[in-house]
Amino acid sequence: MQIDRPLAQSPARYLAEHRPDTPILFFAPAVLQETARRFRAEIDGLVTYAVKANDRPEVLNNLVAAGISAFDVASPAEMAAVRAADPRAVLHYNNPVRSEAEVQAGIALGVASWSVDDPAELQKLDAVPREAEVAVRFALPVAGAAYDFGSKFGATPELAARLLRRVAQMGFVPALCFHPGTQCHDPAAWVHYVETAAAIAEAAGVRIARLNIGGGFAADRGFEAPDHKAVFAAVAQARDTAFGEARPDLLCEPGRAMVASSCVIAARIKALRNGANTVFLNDGIYGGLTELRDIGLSRLVSVVSPDGVLRHGAAEPRIVFGPTCDSLDRLPDGLALPEDAEVGDYVLFAGMGAYSIATNTGFNGYGLRQIEMVSALE
Ligand SMILES: *Cc1c(COP(=O)(O)O)cnc(C)c1O
Repeated sequence: MQIDRPLAQSPARYLAEHRPDTPILFFAPAVLQETARRFRAEIDGLVTYAVKANDRPEVLNNLVAAGISAFDVASPAEMAAVRAADPRAVLHYNNPVRSEAEVQAGIALGVASWSVDDPAELQKLDAVPREAEVAVRFALPVAGAAYDFGSKFGATPELAARLLRRVAQMGFVPALCFHPGTQCHDPAAWVHYVETAAAIAEAAGVRIARLNIGGGFAADRGFEAPDHKAVFAAVAQARDTAFGEARPDLLCEPGRAMVASSCVIAARIKALRNGANTVFLNDGIYGGLTELRDIGLSRLVSVVSPDGVLRHGAAEPRIVFGPTCDSLDRLPDGLALPEDAEVGDYVLFAGMGAYSIATNTGFNGYGLRQIEMVSALE
């Protein structure tokens, strides 16, 4: 891809040189490309990217450069973002609730795969050309995920079997899909879904072409190390056992685990109060740190001085506020920061490529607006 100026070597180097007073998302394209290649090597199937995790052109361009050619999109705007990065990109439109206008937009852009979880939504796809794949999304009570993208959508297995039969009758390429919930560490969650998928196909009397095992793969947050290989191995084995002769091809759609590790958010300490027990940062839950409220703190946090030197003091739990005038703008309590952290220092939140700039707001005139590309994150 095109690089019009030399990349800074690392976030610390950039911070020492520029001393920015607004938060920055540091993005390492090399880390993202490496992750994409690893996913492609590890699964016996197609790797797509769930665009909602981070839809920035820098991210999409680098995924295309790393060989990702199909994308999980949820809206016409995401489709446009993907096609800007790759005019030939394959679109999987996996938001199962669509207006008629959105269906038309998907048809116009040649969506290759659609997901449905409801008879009325399937009826809306009647104008879609029959070479398209339609994947029935089903849901089970969740286990193992940090929180749940899964429960908003998804038919019961009984309804899924009826929908799958109807998909086949309508002449679409039949498939099944699910999402086990995000930041899911437990291979057993996927296995349970794969076994249920086989039972649904059997009940419907339909041989499915593909099984979409969703996203949900865990990113490293400094606690339990994620093991995607274990998930893929368990999925492949469950697929072979449960489907036998009728084994479908696999595809996955990681969002978080694809992009999280490629970005670090740097937020500056604006003030310390109560004997430094209370910290005010220039980014918070209305900016790039929204998700920490829902998923909890990570351990991948460090502090550097304005000269870019790592603070080594003993870690002390703090109360941390963001920059807006809303008292809700507070991180989960107990973020441990080194005791020698000072006003003007930068707090580096690693592993923050997913659901950070994507959910950012400009509330109160703050927010995460700047992306800086770096050659490495350390
Ligand atoms: C959000 C979403 C994903 C990505 O989920 P992660 O937990 O970020 O991997 C994948 N597929 C669908 C349908 C989604 O809605």
